[in-house]
Amino acid sequence: MEVKNCKRCGKLFQYVTGKPICPACKQQDEDDFDKVKNYLYEYPRTSLMEVSEATQVSIASIRKFLREDRLIISEDSEIGIECENCGVTIKSGRYCRSCMASLNNEMRAVTRPQTAPKEKQDIKQTDPKKTKMHYLNKDKLN
Ligand SMILES: [Zn+2]
Ligand SMILES: [Zn+2]
Repeated sequence: MEVKNCKRCGKLFQYVTGKPICPACKQQDEDDFDKVKNYLYEYPRTSLMEVSEATQVSIASIRKFLREDRLIISEDSEIGIECENCGVTIKSGRYCRSCMASLNNEMRAVTRPQTAPKEKQDIKQTDPKKTKMHYLNKDKLN
C-alpha cells in the first residue's frame, strides 16, 4: 500500500489507484458534480456564473466536469468551453467535431503503415488451402 499526499487538500491518504485524490475530496467532487447536474437539469439555460453561485461549486470545477465529458448540457445553453485545438465553443469534451475528425484522420494515417504487415499475416493464417491440408493430415493420422 502506498501513502500519498492528496493533490487537492494535501492530506496523507492510502493511495490505491486512479487520481492522487483522497476519499474525502473524491466524495466532495461527486457531491459537487451531482449539485451541478441537478441544477442544470432544473435550469438548463443558466450561465456558468449563475450555476456556480447557486451550487457553490467553482467555475473551474464545472469546466472540469465538462472537459471530462461527464456533464451533459443542452444545445441551447449558453454554457460552453473552448476546443483545445481551435478555440471554438463546444459543450463538452476536449475538441470540437471538426478537430476531432481531423485528429482521428491523422491518427489513422500514422498507424496505417504499422498495421499493414499484420493484416497480411492474418490473411496467410486463415488461408483456406492450408486449413484443408491440415485437416487432411489429421485424417490420415486417424
Ligand atoms: Zn483531499
Ligand atoms: Zn476545434
